[in-house]
Amino acid sequence: MTDNPTPSATTTAAATTTAAAATGAAAATDVVHLTAAATAAAIAAGELSAVEATQAALDRIAKVDDTIHAFLHVDAEGALAAARSVDERRAAGERLGPLAGVPLALKDVLTARGMPTTCGSRILEGWHAPYDATVVSRLRAADVVLLGKVNMDEFAMGSSTENSAYGPTRNPWDTTRIPGGSSGGSAAAVAALEAPLAIGTDTGGSIRQPAAVCGLVGVKPTYGGVSRYGLVAFSSSLDQAGPLARTVTDAALLHAAIAGHDPLDSTSVDVPVPAVVAAAGRRDIRGVRVGVVRELAGDGYDPGVEAAFTAAVETLTALGAEVVEVSCPHFTYALPAYYLIAPSECSSNLARFDAMRFGLRIGDDGQAGAEEVMSRTREAGFGPEVKRRIILGTYALSSGYYDAYYGQAQKVRTLISRDFSAAFEQVDVLVSPTTPTPAFPLGAKVDDPVAMYLSDLCTIPSNLAGGPAMSLPAGLVDGLPVGIQIMAPPFADDRLYLVGGALEEALDARRGHPLLDEAPAL
Ligand code: GLN
Repeated sequence: MTDNPTPSATTTAAATTTAAAATGAAAATDVVHLTAAATAAAIAAGELSAVEATQAALDRIAKVDDTIHAFLHVDAEGALAAARSVDERRAAGERLGPLAGVPLALKDVLTARGMPTTCGSRILEGWHAPYDATVVSRLRAADVVLLGKVNMDEFAMGSSTENSAYGPTRNPWDTTRIPGGSSGGSAAAVAALEAPLAIGTDTGGSIRQPAAVCGLVGVKPTYGGVSRYGLVAFSSSLDQAGPLARTVTDAALLHAAIAGHDPLDSTSVDVPVPAVVAAAGRRDIRGVRVGVVRELAGDGYDPGVEAAFTAAVETLTALGAEVVEVSCPHFTYALPAYYLIAPSECSSNLARFDAMRFGLRIGDDGQAGAEEVMSRTREAGFGPEVKRRIILGTYALSSGYYDAYYGQAQKVRTLISRDFSAAFEQVDVLVSPTTPTPAFPLGAKVDDPVAMYLSDLCTIPSNLAGGPAMSLPAGLVDGLPVGIQIMAPPFADDRLYLVGGALEEALDARRGHPLLDEAPAL
């Protein structure tokens, strides 16, 4: 599979499943190696059933998840029922969507009927949402099979998944290291072959950074492109759900399935979904103008990361792209602005967890007043990082400090948007490393929040300005994956897939890639 630098999803699926059929049955190891496109193609061709694909994922979870700890909740029964329905309708000749029967891991920050929603927090332990997030109802409508809920930093605050109240997730490439965060469960599930697809959310980098350190494709769509209805809010003006996958085409298929206007979300924008799947397949970037962001390099960047990035940029040039250097001078202030805006919005959003409406309630002994119960519940229910941000945000929004902190940060946000606008007058996309370093060891940064925050140095500008951005595997540094980030103007998400698809093919990131070659040794 990896010897062919341009495997077409369909032929790869056919070859694998034919080999499996020759040995009597679709062996679970073969099935879990398939891309989402290949899984769907095999199901559509009748070479593999959705039940077999789902069972293979469930078997893989049973085998490796004690070590990886990606899943917080596995819904085997619901997944198999959804898969059976796909098989029955396919047998009846119904035309199904391009991801019908493909298993998926869902970040536990999106509500789904019939499953718990914890957001990685004790405060929501045992809470079952009575409704589906729009992303979830679109996945169900597309006949994607939901395997269950995956781990995350509490309320999506973090870069390592170590802030989960339910214990950390491990990086399948090296289980002593972090899988990134906050969508670490989503990334680890896909990298450990527990699911070909996952949904993550990205407020400051939480899809792209885990994708980079787990060797995956991860996309933060344009803000407003994917509905936030049922996405438990951390920072409402920044949060966006998006795909994690093993290939650019798989990410595009998932993006297309979840995107589009939703009247239930007032920040959802009513514009056509960019043609991401077609763009992923085009594989021709001659004449595309690419800007390398000068400010996202230098001090603090691992030399291995920089070397892989430089090699990827040289590949873009070899493919016929016109590469220039571009300056975005205010990107330097993105991180401090983010750490005022995101905590401010979080302090307001998380006020709803008051012991009255959802989940946990501590100290309600018939004597204590409402305020006392709220305070004891929040004390017991939130972890240290969430509390730090609520305190920081409350301070930044308080009268007398509002202008100096929150107001100032919003002005910086405008300057960053202007940097993007100026850059996109010169170029079609911008590129940078996705993260300054590869995955670090578990525990290395838990006591140093600022060091942890620096993981998102390159990803935060796109959240602040609202534009879409992708992380794509750029190679390995000492056996650990690193990513290249591609950024585009708002609602030009297709450009990410155009450049990403061509670059993926040329980098042949899959040669010797454990995800599509041999399973990681778990
Ligand atoms: N790591 C960043 C933070 O802790 C981004 C998180 C995210 O994108 N959800 O805020």
